[in-house]
Amino acid sequence: MSVDAPAKITILGAGPIGLEAALYARFLGYDVAIYEQGRPAESIRRWGSVRMFSPFGMNSSPLGRSALSAQSADDLKLPAEDELLTGQDYVDRYLQPLAESDLLADSLHCGWTAIAAGRAGLSKSDMVDEESRREADFVVVLRDQDGREQLDRSDVLIDCTGLFGQPGWIGSGGVPALGESSARAHIEFGLPDILGGERDKYAGQQTLVIGSGYSAATNICALEQLAREALNTQTTWITRKENRADTTGPLQRFADDPLSARDQLAVRANEFAANSEPHVAHWPASTVSAIHYDAHSDRFQVTLAGNHQGTHEFDRVIANVGFLPNVELTRSLQMHYCYATEGPLKLAAKLLENSSGDCLAQPTGDAELLINPEPDFYLLGAKSYGRNSQFLLKNGLDQIRQLFTIIGDRENLDLYRQFLPANQK
Ligand SMILES: Cc1cc2nc3c(=O)[nH]c(=O)nc-3n(C[C@H](O)[C@H](O)[C@H](O)COP(=O)(O)OP(=O)(O)OC[C@H]3O[C@@H](n4cnc5c(N)ncnc54)[C@H](O)[C@@H]3O)c2cc1C
Repeated sequence: MSVDAPAKITILGAGPIGLEAALYARFLGYDVAIYEQGRPAESIRRWGSVRMFSPFGMNSSPLGRSALSAQSADDLKLPAEDELLTGQDYVDRYLQPLAESDLLADSLHCGWTAIAAGRAGLSKSDMVDEESRREADFVVVLRDQDGREQLDRSDVLIDCTGLFGQPGWIGSGGVPALGESSARAHIEFGLPDILGGERDKYAGQQTLVIGSGYSAATNICALEQLAREALNTQTTWITRKENRADTTGPLQRFADDPLSARDQLAVRANEFAANSEPHVAHWPASTVSAIHYDAHSDRFQVTLAGNHQGTHEFDRVIANVGFLPNVELTRSLQMHYCYATEGPLKLAAKLLENSSGDCLAQPTGDAELLINPEPDFYLLGAKSYGRNSQFLLKNGLDQIRQLFTIIGDRENLDLYRQFLPANQK
């Protein structure tokens, strides 16, 4: 059933997908409120020093580019579509200006964390699977840093809160390693600016890196570079599985990879894993069974199982073990999450068809996959993929385009196509 403008759409999270979804909705004349716990694109700011592997044209929409070009004549020069930006450049040159643009500025409320979402007057078990649940407003409880709370009401609710808030556990089997809960505050779960602002923390230190994905690879490459500049910098890299049969290390490569920066990262990290560099030791088939942080010495004792079993000491621990979706937020809504990925079930089932490991090879789903048992509730962006780490920003932009064909019940609506320059249509 169509929800027509000027109905109220509430969007949780002002990352790239929340901002782009809000822009699309505002352009169609909806009343939009977007709530962000920190600053716009807060998650991306946390790894601002890292260069992205997909070009700006893939990470931005024709609508967003056009809105900015129309508004800021002199002072803002949009990046070229083939430019590979750092996370911070992407924020400074696109996402922050978008957040401040005329269409979004009044809709955006920063510093408000969404705590829980429900339907006014209905419990989760009322009207099971009934369309008439949509007659009750969505209610979202929001809290600011001073503990003040407010309630938002809306006709449509879109969760774009991403994944970065909740790192996974480092223990084998996805459970906490023994002692991890106490040590967690001292473990780094992201991409610190190893060659810049956080150099002193890692220079001359022994660091343990845990994980086999692109974030771990990025940290390994930075630590290897640091080791060449700062004496006694030593890195141990553990990965859960044995090395892949088709490469010298844990990172998968794809034939004729169109994302050449991604391929270069995989090649470099795999070379370090193959021990061509003395500063990085790669220990495959190793997992953490216990971890203890000693505040007095500012060091960790880490007990490993597998090929290098025993207790080892490190100054720093970086865990790139993936992130967990916050399903708690939607607990009072009629949501059906996948038992394997914790993504919304229909989309998750489709995504599980892609076993290639290549995020560019996602099956293209139709708009129907975005529909949940809870009417008018949608999950977009990285969180919609749950624990499946293959989400790309371009997938999120596709989701936005598809979503508004459902919300407005207009099968052929495509603002992105409409705003493409004539020579690209
Ligand atoms: C080093 C690195 C490089 C990457 N490079 C690329 C690349 O080249 N190409 C690509 O396509 N992808 C890349 N990615 C992935 C990409 O950054 C993410 O997929 C993307 O940020 C997801 O966007 P999102 O809007 O769904 O979520 P996020 O960017 O995580 O945004 C979610 C927002 O919601 C806010 N939020 C969270 N919880 C709440 C709450 N309860 N209430 C209110 N607000 C909340 C957060 O503060 C955040 O601002 C990279 C990721 C990393 C780590």
